[in-house]
Amino acid sequence: MAKIELVLGDITQMDVDAIVNAANESLLGGGGVDGAIHRAAGPQLLEECRAIGGCPTGEARITKGYNLNARYVIHTVGPIWRGGQHNETLLLRHAYVNSLKLAQKHGLKSIAFPNISTGVYHFPKQSAAQIAIRAVEEFVTKNPLPERVVFVCFDQENYNIYREILG
Ligand code: ADP
Repeated sequence: MAKIELVLGDITQMDVDAIVNAANESLLGGGGVDGAIHRAAGPQLLEECRAIGGCPTGEARITKGYNLNARYVIHTVGPIWRGGQHNETLLLRHAYVNSLKLAQKHGLKSIAFPNISTGVYHFPKQSAAQIAIRAVEEFVTKNPLPERVVFVCFDQENYNIYREILG
């Protein structure tokens, strides 16, 4: 079964087969982790994203990683928190699971996730972490790939929440 790791840091620096981008439905870039990934990957990433033409919430799309250490970027769109009664939990779970499915389909051994939806999309961090960890643990229990999953927390608060749950 896959090894699940926890890191406090910048996902653009990760040495993994794919890093996951918490994108928006346009896939045309934005702030937060999305902006950081596009800056680090270079302008060709935006070109490839433009050609894809968008991604609905909960789904995922794969591109090359260009100037990143990671060979691929998996772009997924987490839900915007609108109080919790708008399918946010299921959509966040889908964002993780569909990213993992795409990694598996491409034979990828290692993948790094940011804390999807917990920035400008305002998903409560504690429940987002529980959903993320549960989705990943269930997936890796049933599937041989990926072999290594890294949760990359950019802020200390998320890192502490993950450390508590992961033990
Ligand atoms: P969303 O729109 O899904 O909320 P954000 O980019 O606003 O996306 O935030 C998602 C998470 O990514 C936040 O927890 C934020 O702290 C984190 N983040 C921002 N920059 C980076 C980075 N360079 N590496 C990893 N995580 C990052």
